[in-house]
Amino acid sequence: MLPVMRLVSPVRFFDEPMLQLARWTSERYVAPLATVLGVLSPPRVAGEETVAAGTSDGAEHRPANPEGPEEATVPATLSGYRGGTEMLEAIGRASGTFLLRPAPEDEQAVAVHAVKACLAQARRAIVVVPEATPVPATATALRAAFGDRVCLYLGGDKRQRYRDWLALRDGRYDVVVGTRPAVFSPLRDVGLVYVSRESHAAHRDDRAPYHHVRDIALQRTRLSGGACVLAALCPTGEAAALGLPVVMPADRRWPLVEVVRPGPEGRASRLVQALRTVRRGFLYAPMPGYGVAEVCRTCGQPAACASCGGLLRAESGQVRCIVCSSLGVCAVCGGSTFGIRRGGAEHVERWAARSASVPVARPSRPRLPKLTGEIVVGGTEFVRDLGPGDLDLVAVLDADAAARRPGLAARERALAIWMEAVGWARPAGRAIVQSSHPSDPAVQALVRGNPDRFLAREGEQRAAAGFPVGAPVFRVIGGDGLEAALAEHRPLTSLVTTLGNRTICLLALEAGRVPGFSRAMRDLAVEGVVERVEAEPHL
Ligand SMILES: [Zn+2]
Ligand SMILES: [Zn+2]
Repeated sequence: MLPVMRLVSPVRFFDEPMLQLARWTSERYVAPLATVLGVLSPPRVAGEETVAAGTSDGAEHRPANPEGPEEATVPATLSGYRGGTEMLEAIGRASGTFLLRPAPEDEQAVAVHAVKACLAQARRAIVVVPEATPVPATATALRAAFGDRVCLYLGGDKRQRYRDWLALRDGRYDVVVGTRPAVFSPLRDVGLVYVSRESHAAHRDDRAPYHHVRDIALQRTRLSGGACVLAALCPTGEAAALGLPVVMPADRRWPLVEVVRPGPEGRASRLVQALRTVRRGFLYAPMPGYGVAEVCRTCGQPAACASCGGLLRAESGQVRCIVCSSLGVCAVCGGSTFGIRRGGAEHVERWAARSASVPVARPSRPRLPKLTGEIVVGGTEFVRDLGPGDLDLVAVLDADAAARRPGLAARERALAIWMEAVGWARPAGRAIVQSSHPSDPAVQALVRGNPDRFLAREGEQRAAAGFPVGAPVFRVIGGDGLEAALAEHRPLTSLVTTLGNRTICLLALEAGRVPGFSRAMRDLAVEGVVERVEAEPHL
């Protein structure tokens, strides 16, 4: 240890348990400890610390208001769930790990009920949500139930974030609801870490240390106590493979889902008919714009961007390249009129408006259809925690598109999004899914409202591809000797490519080998053999 040169701040940024968590994270994701310590807290704003200096170092150990008057109003939603009582008792004891699969209309209520069980034992709760805007309905529901005891740690400017972080550390809040960084909140006496919409892609950090909120939540509660609840309508394969007790409604609560073949121009007559009587509906159309330019009308060649060769898309009356945004010009002849394959959200909005008896909108920001009657057309960015939908109809327009998307987890993500959207048809609506492959396991999972069989099958395919669910994956970049050095760790799978004088290895390991592997990568980095390690890259 080097001598201390300068005191940076009077604030203590982590305690012993958080340091332990940081060390585990550093090892698991093969990231420098300093990088991990950097993500434990937001950037400092020194001006805020003069306010904080007056408070002692976390003197307040017990929750501020152990018995809020609000709690009486929390409905006992989980009591009607299979395994719900056991989960509530475990939260009361601040131990245990659960997979919670709520009914769509209960998503917010179960989070509130779980937090109530934690607060009732005078402990604190962390709720991690994947998105900050619009304010997730789960956050709004927690605020409504527990008032000022809840800190919304969602976005905000640098100063506000640091101020909130200091307040959390000083014990001024009993509940924090926030995005990824909230999983590291400096709360004491944590009785519950609750991960909302566990299968959302934003729970994984795309920057070093590339951690996943699920894994940090599991490890934090393992190290420092607290129950851990992973909640999702459709959990990830990773969460399902943990073999946790599953808590779900005792009765089946899923809308009637009808699968129809997409008709001409991607609209089944069944769907067009249904639109006539819909008062509130959501049409899930993940492709933006009006359609894709297929051929040049002037020369008849396949359409491609003249500047970069990218795909040309018609959007808002203009054809533009989706890669470089240049105006659409034919790469062969310079022509600017194209044959368009229609199917984007703009196109859907147009034909839906001709059939519907209520207004059809494609809002710029995600929201549910208006209560006065409306059909909303939107893509992935619309499927958020907007609260119970109570819609008459939800349609998934092109379920077959998910199978065309690359990536090992692409289908699993697609199913998770479909399930969240279709869930908006609860409690009294129905859903129509357009697919040419009605027996596809993902489509069948959507019909049943149960992803178990789909996840089991995906698991088999992942194992066959050499990347079994739950096996840590690393992308290692380095120079000569890298391949041989990595082979010593007996990876389950090792894919090697070279790029110039760089070697790039993608490997899957048994979980038990990670500590040894992690140490070895640090040594190899010192020797110059390893340049960079990325944990859990998107495959
Ligand atoms: Zn281009
Ligand atoms: Zn042309």
